[in-house]
Amino acid sequence: MPTTIVQPRHMARFACLGPDCPDTCCRDWAVDVDPATVRLWRNHPDAGWRERLAAGLRRLRKPDGSERNLVAMRPDGHCLFYTEDGLCGIQKELGAEAMPWICRVFPRGEQAEHDFLARTGSLACTAVARAVVGEDRSLDESLDGPIGPTLLALQPATTKPAFTAREAWAVRRTALAILGQPTWSWEARLVLTALLAGELATVDLVRGRQGLSSLLDRYAGASREPEPAGVAAELAAGRAQGTALLVPVLKAILEGAREPVPGKIVWAAFVSAALDRLGVTAENLDEAARRVAAVLRDRLDPLYADRPRSFSNLLGALLHQVRFPGERPKDALGRLGQAIVAFATWRILTAARLDAGVADPLEAAAEVAWKLGRHLAHSQKVLDRAIEGLSRAGGLEPARLLLLAA
Ligand code: SF4
Repeated sequence: MPTTIVQPRHMARFACLGPDCPDTCCRDWAVDVDPATVRLWRNHPDAGWRERLAAGLRRLRKPDGSERNLVAMRPDGHCLFYTEDGLCGIQKELGAEAMPWICRVFPRGEQAEHDFLARTGSLACTAVARAVVGEDRSLDESLDGPIGPTLLALQPATTKPAFTAREAWAVRRTALAILGQPTWSWEARLVLTALLAGELATVDLVRGRQGLSSLLDRYAGASREPEPAGVAAELAAGRAQGTALLVPVLKAILEGAREPVPGKIVWAAFVSAALDRLGVTAENLDEAARRVAAVLRDRLDPLYADRPRSFSNLLGALLHQVRFPGERPKDALGRLGQAIVAFATWRILTAARLDAGVADPLEAAAEVAWKLGRHLAHSQKVLDRAIEGLSRAGGLEPARLLLLAA
């Protein structure tokens, strides 16, 4: 059993909003029912419940011939067991242990090994998104157990080329410390994070873990130094070039709205309203990118000036969401790219909401975050498409990719 739990602060005190949730996760999801729960439902001792539970199972045949069981949804998109008072009927009447495993653990994401468990929270949850955007210290690390700051010292010996859970957490923790560096400009933090991801690719875990340890120590140390001169100015000067990189991202967002995935209707309506506001259509992407760049400057720069931690927290939460740094050191740059494209998507949709004159900018920013988190939980195609387009436009060079986040 894991004895050490490492998690962001917002997860250490997570509480589901229940009936007060403005956008419940009991709607517009493909909720898998795990085999143990399927058995429990099929053999439930109460005949009435057995019948109801059977009606709540939707069986799908996968291309490989195996079976997938999902919770049936009503025509309005809600789970069949969702009750009028905004609660789960199964939990209320049969207890949490009768719920599908995924419903019990959501919004937790976990990676465990031996006596160590690293937990993150999915941005797809309303409460998580609100905490990430609205609470400055929400991503600070929370430790429950005897572990100290030197996570890697407790690493069990291994010669595998892949990161262990503890190492992956240590990498994320270093990246989050850089992104949250309060005395540095946003641009300098982005550059140092990209340099970290780039250098990770040179680490050979088979030859030893010491290289990773010293690399992380070096970057953690660098982030405690004064900001390197000139870095911010250089990235800011290239900002105009970032406009062209918005084109593949806008195209991917437009195409993503047509994806046949759960939540499509909600996501499509949300995205369409935002893109309409920005005047983006498939036919005018180049011109629209210039307009979007101006709206980003006008609407997001003031929000950043007011709430810089909302931005660093959100990019940090997206690093968790895309499982940065990936399985192996060479994956890190690609995962950072995914997080930056997701972040760019959030910026565009948030700017559109702010441009529409919403009453509460932070709540609007959080809403975009959870809608995006929810979409990404079902499909990463919006990221894949944008990355393919960026690759064709030469936009995957770290120095250029960062322009999407600056
Ligand atoms: S989205 Fe989060 S807060 Fe809302 S009902 Fe689901 S778990 Fe609870």
